[in-house]
Amino acid sequence: MKILVGVKRVIDYNVKVRVKPDGSSVDLDNVKMAMNPFDEIAVEQAIRLKESGVADEVIAVSIGPDKSQETLRQALAMGADRAILMPYEGTTEPLSVAKAFKALVEKEEINLVLLGKQAIDDDCNQTAQMLSALLDWPQGTFASGLTVEGEALEVTREVDGGQECVQLELPAVISVDLRLNDPRFASLPAIMKAKKKPIDRVEAESLGVDLAPRLELLKVSEPPARQTQCVLVDTATDLVEKLKNEAQVL
Ligand code: AMP
Repeated sequence: MKILVGVKRVIDYNVKVRVKPDGSSVDLDNVKMAMNPFDEIAVEQAIRLKESGVADEVIAVSIGPDKSQETLRQALAMGADRAILMPYEGTTEPLSVAKAFKALVEKEEINLVLLGKQAIDDDCNQTAQMLSALLDWPQGTFASGLTVEGEALEVTREVDGGQECVQLELPAVISVDLRLNDPRFASLPAIMKAKKKPIDRVEAESLGVDLAPRLELLKVSEPPARQTQCVLVDTATDLVEKLKNEAQVL
């Protein structure tokens, strides 16, 4: 089995996002960037499948600026076998990313694609679903559990009413949710070893894919400031007292 894993370079989730004064976009100058957290979970899952003998090769892919190589190096240090950078300086959109992944799936003869359930920069939550439609492969989205037996996959999904279990046949597309696993930290020797692993550059045009955005971004603005202040109370009695006398809702 050959697994393709999507890893997107996004603003680190610990960073407080600032909007540019002209409202044209989010300010990325001197901002710490990192691998999309859901993609770390996807890489971890792919590596576990390889370690358990289910998968033969794990290939990490990033579509983005040259600096996305850092994100790919992290995936390699975690245990991916090789990486592909599809260079693109602008904003990537789910449909064009899905088309690029489809082309790579066909080029690399992939059986399983693992993606994050969403990229935390655009929060689109669309790429896996679009890729599955383009490939005409089954999809298991928001996976919080995954087992593979031969060609059969069982995906556990967290839904409003509890847990849903779906069965899929390979080849398939899976998007992963937070509770699937705890991604490992790469050890220093693994980071050193990853420096020798190959990162191939594949131009989108060479696969007949156009990454130019189709959506027009009109304006980015800060959310409105909170009207109410948060107060921490020590005891339930204090809470009741405040609700009665200050908020006057009891
Ligand atoms: P989205 O649909 O934009 O929320 O992204 C869902 C998932 O698709 C992400 O968690 C990644 O696994 C993958 N993905 C989206 N954009 C990219 C990109 N530019 N490069 C690599 N993977 C991506």
